[in-house]
Amino acid sequence: MTATFAPRGSWTPVDFDSTLQPFLSASADALASYDPATGGLVARVATSTLGQVDEAVESAERAFRKSSWRNDGALRARVLFRWAERMRQQSEALAELLTREQGKTIGQARGEVLSSISMIEYNAGQARAIYGRSAALKEGVHGVVLREPVGIVAAITPWNYPLNLTIRAVAPALAAGNAVVVKPASLTPAIVIAALALLAQDDDLPDGIVRAVVGSGATVGDRLVTHDGVNMIAFTGDSATGIDVMKRGADSLKKVSLELGGKSPNIVFADANLDKALIGAENAIFSSAGQICTAGSRLLLADSIHDEFVERLAARAREMRVGDGLDPATEMGPLVSAGHQATVWDYVEIANAEGTVVAGGQALEGGGYDQGHFVAPTIVTDLPAGSRLLNEEVFGPVLAVQKFSTEEEAIQIANSTEFGLACGLWTTDLDRAWRVGRAVEAGTIWINTYHHFYGEMEVGGFKKSGIGRQQGVEGLLEFTETKHLNFDSNPTFW
Ligand code: NAD
Repeated sequence: MTATFAPRGSWTPVDFDSTLQPFLSASADALASYDPATGGLVARVATSTLGQVDEAVESAERAFRKSSWRNDGALRARVLFRWAERMRQQSEALAELLTREQGKTIGQARGEVLSSISMIEYNAGQARAIYGRSAALKEGVHGVVLREPVGIVAAITPWNYPLNLTIRAVAPALAAGNAVVVKPASLTPAIVIAALALLAQDDDLPDGIVRAVVGSGATVGDRLVTHDGVNMIAFTGDSATGIDVMKRGADSLKKVSLELGGKSPNIVFADANLDKALIGAENAIFSSAGQICTAGSRLLLADSIHDEFVERLAARAREMRVGDGLDPATEMGPLVSAGHQATVWDYVEIANAEGTVVAGGQALEGGGYDQGHFVAPTIVTDLPAGSRLLNEEVFGPVLAVQKFSTEEEAIQIANSTEFGLACGLWTTDLDRAWRVGRAVEAGTIWINTYHHFYGEMEVGGFKKSGIGRQQGVEGLLEFTETKHLNFDSNPTFW
């Protein structure tokens, strides 16, 4: 492993509160976010009182009911396109803030900013193309099904892709004509508020259509989930939290969209192009230090290629450049916080105790490593069935390798967890790709690729990985209700 810690530029911590950003309903004690690579202060963001959460929801309700926003697709498209343009102009500054606050490499941060812009543009286009349907039902009778916005959407988002996952909810919710109250994760509030500020400054955006609140899930998040004025919760986060959100939202029968955790299998068959599969397997688990819901954290290898593939992948993991995400040479950055590092470390200890660790598995010490929250890229084989490492989401750079001898066994292992978010398949046999792709229970199946997302194509989970879909037309329509208007020129009654 090579440590990468080049000298970095100076940084003046940024401040956000409701006097500086009026769309932010927050003026209580600031929470600070810290650089996961160095521990330095990145930002101070004021938190919201419960009264300010109520105020944000009420102002969203007023704007939704009184402005033309819900009925004017062209206005929504214009505002969203301009937001994308301002984001593009600020993309380098946003990427730097993202790396400093979240820790991912600067290349990955640039990618997150660009894909967020692309997501806004896709939804901006869709804002003018939300159609219902109509039917002539019988002589003199017509039915029209409209797609209407749900109303007030609370978007509650996590820290791993803070920009992308917030925009993935906010852009379609706005495109469909809703008002949105955003609650970012407390570890990464600044990047979210900085991006939303570029939207909120638009003169044509009715005041109140976008609001942000800041604070813990247990207080501020809970207030949104239980608030009678909120019609829908778009939640991305841990499965246990999502289940809790759904239960508590049920009292007011809120619509929910839940994008939750995963333990995704990445299956390599013996007939695959192994050079490509190797790069795909590396990306699937070590990209963003494994802190991706769709991480390919279980590598399923055909018996006949197992040993050679593991050795090649382990060699790559051992030579990976791990360090400060701002150093362009870095391939894997730190984990987001000391607390999360400790959680991931517990899983590394399970790997050492229960399996054969072929790469990583040891603490990273000395040099710049002591200031940040680093865990070595770790690969473990020979785990016993039932090991927590084969079933639980680690959300870190820890890969569990399993062997299979038949296609049926690969499918059985792939479907053996409570999750169903994504799956990778590496094969040159087209019939097999179809067969296995249909048989695996997951919302996304990548064939001979991994981790490629498109604003046009939906994502979401089977089983405990979620309810509903985001992105694409399916994701946009989640933020709508249907309404049937029935016209009868000569009604008869009994
Ligand atoms: P988390 O569930 O701890 O927090 C997510 C958000 O929910 C945060 O804003 C948090 O403050 C808020 N929250 C926490 N408790 C709450 C409560 N009781 N009521 C209301 N809001 C509450 O998740 P995290 O640690 O921030 O993110 C990591 C998790 O997110 C992983 O499990 C990962 O798989 C999942 N994730 C899923 C997707 C997806 O698309 N399926 C994408 C990214 C992350």
